[in-house]
Amino acid sequence: MPSSPNSGRVEVICGPMFSGKTEELIRRLRRAMIAQKAVVCIKPAIDQRFHPTAIASHSEMSIEAIPVKDVEEIERVLDANSAAEVIAIDEAQFLAPEIVKVVERLVHMGKRVIVAGLDTTYAGEPFAPVPELMAIADEVTKLSAVCMQCGQPAIRTQRLRGGTERVVVGAGDVYEARCRFCFEPASRPGA
Ligand code: ADP
Ligand code: MG
Ligand code: ZN
Repeated sequence: MPSSPNSGRVEVICGPMFSGKTEELIRRLRRAMIAQKAVVCIKPAIDQRFHPTAIASHSEMSIEAIPVKDVEEIERVLDANSAAEVIAIDEAQFLAPEIVKVVERLVHMGKRVIVAGLDTTYAGEPFAPVPELMAIADEVTKLSAVCMQCGQPAIRTQRLRGGTERVVVGAGDVYEARCRFCFEPASRPGA
């Protein structure tokens, strides 16, 4: 059944690395598939961890995904998949600000859009465009990981090495989850 124009909604799943954003995204997509919805899942091609055409969690759950290099390509993929009722985007922090307008357009077409991404950078600052997507969302789910220093809920991503560029793609070798008290924003990676 095609989605009606008033049924569109935006769901944002955010939190630090290892908080289960991808697992939660996969859980919602599996349920949508059980409900016989037409689903399309997209991820920025910059994130080549694990598999080029799937999203995969740190716990090895995975689901097929279309890799895209930018927001324009997302629009092309969605034009080619116009029957999709549920559109999922993982690792949204790697996308340009134009994604906000694209998501709004999709919602007005009646689509359910589920976006997952980091809400803060390794420096502990808002990680655009995720905060902007949170602002237009119908529902925001903020997940926490487990602090690798003290075991409390973790809302920060600590970079352990790899320099000071905003984007350094990596997993447990480069990053760990930390609570706000154990997080060390000023620590110079490698110093
Ligand atoms: P995200 O997409 O938010 O990075 P994932 O969904 O890929 O998270 O992975 C979540 C899984 O990562 C957890 O279910 C757990 O198995 C594993 N994990 C590894 N380190 C941690 C940690 N510090 N806190 C919580 N989960 C962790
Ligand atoms: Mg993830
Ligand atoms: Zn801690």
